[in-house]
Amino acid sequence: MELVFATHNKHKFEEIQAMLPEHIKLLSLDDIGCNEDIAETADTIDGNAILKAEYVRHRYGYNCFADDTGLEVDALNGAPGVYSARYAGEEKSDKANVVKLLDELKDKINRKAHFKTVIALNLKDRENLFTGICKGEITKETYGENGFGYDPVFCPEGFKKTFAQMPMEAKSKISHRGKAFAQLIEYLSK
Ligand code: IMP
Repeated sequence: MELVFATHNKHKFEEIQAMLPEHIKLLSLDDIGCNEDIAETADTIDGNAILKAEYVRHRYGYNCFADDTGLEVDALNGAPGVYSARYAGEEKSDKANVVKLLDELKDKINRKAHFKTVIALNLKDRENLFTGICKGEITKETYGENGFGYDPVFCPEGFKKTFAQMPMEAKSKISHRGKAFAQLIEYLSK
């Protein structure tokens, strides 16, 4: 079966390709001639994942899945959430986003937060959602060099390190994205 992963992120694509059962031929957006950035105009994480998967299904006719992730901070009523990538502006700067987050939390005692990944799978117009959550806390400063996004300020529950201080394989085992993809892979392997 051919299945499109609606992402332009090569790193994510290769990681998932390596985990899929053999009967699935994974195609990228480039493979199907989709060069545009699919607009993420929904106001929820679930909504954006659904929107991207449906876009590919309807416009290109392929079975498809898409993911969307956000960081939800308790003391900020769930912000930055669906706007995590552009929290500090449209240029989507990881560094500026982290600076803004630390500033917004500077007087807050409650630093609890979680990452949420939603994968929307659209198989012959039947939709399934897979959700992965990783709970943790926002540190007061940045720590570590690995990863991307909010990794240098996110300390997962039960650990004394940020995601940016962990090797990628260790992060993937406990991360929101790892958990959501594990569910997708189990579903596709049945
Ligand atoms: P996306 O939906 O995977 O593109 O993620 C949206 C935004 O959430 C990214 O631009 C990052 O700012 C943030 N983000 C997503 N996943 C992670 C992660 O694993 N660590 C840190 N930040 C992340």
